[in-house]
Amino acid sequence: MIKKEADWIQELPPNQYTIEDYDGGEARWCPGCGDFAVLSAVKRICRDNQIPPEKMVAVSGIGCSSRFPHYMNTYGFHGLHGRALPVACGIKARRPDLDIWVATGDGDCCSIGAGHWIHAIRYNMNITVMLFDNNVYGLTKNQSSPTSPQGLVTSTHPSGTWLPPLNPTLATLGFTNVSFVAQTVDWNPPHLYATLNAAYQHKGLSFVRIMQRCPTFTPNLFDPIINDPTRLILLTHENGIEVEPAVEKKFKNKVVHDPSDMTGARDLSTLEGKLAIGLLFHDPNTVIYDEFTNHGLDMDAGDKLKAVREEIARFAI
Ligand code: SF4
Repeated sequence: MIKKEADWIQELPPNQYTIEDYDGGEARWCPGCGDFAVLSAVKRICRDNQIPPEKMVAVSGIGCSSRFPHYMNTYGFHGLHGRALPVACGIKARRPDLDIWVATGDGDCCSIGAGHWIHAIRYNMNITVMLFDNNVYGLTKNQSSPTSPQGLVTSTHPSGTWLPPLNPTLATLGFTNVSFVAQTVDWNPPHLYATLNAAYQHKGLSFVRIMQRCPTFTPNLFDPIINDPTRLILLTHENGIEVEPAVEKKFKNKVVHDPSDMTGARDLSTLEGKLAIGLLFHDPNTVIYDEFTNHGLDMDAGDKLKAVREEIARFAI
């Protein structure tokens, strides 16, 4: 039977956003840079959750990945080095209706921005933080970053770095009021998408470390894991991050990990020669700071003035 045209043409409801609606400027990362995969995943998440572009803000500091806001057709704030998180928290405090996504690198977050990182985790505001971790400063041409592996030859350590690397997931798990910590890789798009989407759905600050390839300065860094799939461990659990069965089947190494288990999360963050990807830790019962900063946002100017006068009057002698 020949179908009538109306049987198969899908009528899109009004305001149906497509991926193109989130396209910003042309991304100018190096060919093969892992940042492209993250950008694609975020645009898909925006489309799939129908986030109005005018209701999203991409916030960044300084670095290759911090060019992210330029490549999204949403609001954006390309800030100072290491300051993405306080800017994001400030926006959320005044505009809780906006979806805030932070793009920060291992240099931006874990070095100059480390103080803000600790307190943003503690504030636990409802924002999605993506740590693009390529183990090096790319924008400033191959300087050692806090996550550079010991012995890595860089422009600042031509004989190899001296210190052991800082572990961003282990550090985050040690901060007060942590609520969501996950890890993924740029070279597995389905897992990257599922992880960032779960992070977006989480209420509170979600911290996602993305192992990100930098073919220009650290081209072989992740080869041991990419070339030996047994070194990449998929974390599974009914409360974890779900991936399609066909994707899950491709992992040779899987570990069942309950994301409420902090000790297990720390152990999985410190595996030697292996990388665990998935939800390391989740506590849905942590205090969310924007639930306090929201107070009074719906007051009109007259009510605000009255409240200020009442507060001042309390201190009158
Ligand atoms: Fe990406 Fe590295 Fe090029 Fe920066 S230098 S854009 S991180 S490949």
